[in-house]
Amino acid sequence: MAMMRSDLGIMKILHLKKRGCFLLKLLCLVVLVLIFCEFLVYYVVIFQCHWPEVKIEAHRSSKQSSASVLKAMFLSDTHLLGEIKGHWLDKLRREWQMERAFQTALSLLEPDIVFILGDVFDEGKWSSSQAWADDVRRFQKMFRHPVRTELMVVVGNHDIGFHYEMTTYKLKRFAKVFNFTSGKLITRKGVNFVMVNSVALDGDGCAVCSRAEAKLMKLSHKLNCSQQQEQNHSNKRCSGVEQLPASEPILLQHYPLYRRSDAECTGEDSALPEEKNIPFKEKYDVLSREASQKLLWWFHPRLILSGHTHSACEVLHNGKIPEISVPSFSWRNRNNPSFIMHLVAWGKETQISLLFGLHSLVHRQQHQVPSQSMAA
Ligand SMILES: [Zn+2]
Repeated sequence: MAMMRSDLGIMKILHLKKRGCFLLKLLCLVVLVLIFCEFLVYYVVIFQCHWPEVKIEAHRSSKQSSASVLKAMFLSDTHLLGEIKGHWLDKLRREWQMERAFQTALSLLEPDIVFILGDVFDEGKWSSSQAWADDVRRFQKMFRHPVRTELMVVVGNHDIGFHYEMTTYKLKRFAKVFNFTSGKLITRKGVNFVMVNSVALDGDGCAVCSRAEAKLMKLSHKLNCSQQQEQNHSNKRCSGVEQLPASEPILLQHYPLYRRSDAECTGEDSALPEEKNIPFKEKYDVLSREASQKLLWWFHPRLILSGHTHSACEVLHNGKIPEISVPSFSWRNRNNPSFIMHLVAWGKETQISLLFGLHSLVHRQQHQVPSQSMAA
């Protein structure tokens, strides 16, 4: 009897050991899957993205080298959720995804500069000062970057409100964090970037709008003078104006220039078929025709990059000026968030090449956009 009891005891222990072993294996598997899906997969996908090769044309007189090429990354519409409409779990999930994607891209691709094209926050338009401070703290943690990489942010309607709800107070608190209000010109490696406050281009003469227009006109004057000086054209109005590289600028803004809809947009990053034919509202989905014409007229940009629509699109304005709408970087807004990797250089013999680094985590695709000559 005693022997049977001890046999039963041993069997029970063996059974428990077996179950424990199975559970341990299961736990290990779950941990490994989690590590892969939440951490390693970002490396696996982004590792496959490469900067495009710079095409140097026939003339070899220029001393253009890879050292004078700027590696720029563009992303948009991160929409960090706020305290009013954001559920904590949704927030945690989306912010983890964006943080991992961004940090992995930084470590593997080592861009010189990163631009975020607006709508960094979802509730900047109405958040209390405390909620704003909390959103900013999370943003700075997610988008932390080494000193060698610059991070520049353009303002969007969710950061300061649509035109009718935009106030100087909201603009000032945005400017305090991102050093951007009406417009800004930055020059890196001979390339001029004009960052535009497109929310303030309603043209109704509101205080913020007037300041933004005045600033943009000033920047346009500066760029025009630089081009005239390069061509040895003397102009009295240009005396004393700081000389910049005489290249046409790249415009960076939140709202796209006016276009009727996304009907012409193609590719898997473009809007869903059922959304493509919905007409865009001026001053809401896209800039007004008037504001769009003004920007083209003031700057004669070589390229425009915009956000806001959450989907990608390539448009040609006036038959020659390309605009690229950058899709949202948040998985909340689309299933294949992406960013743009753009090698940019200035020189008479150099061409600009664009490469879309897509990291949908399901597949990856690169497409080359027709090169645009950057000859001055
Ligand atoms: Zn927007």
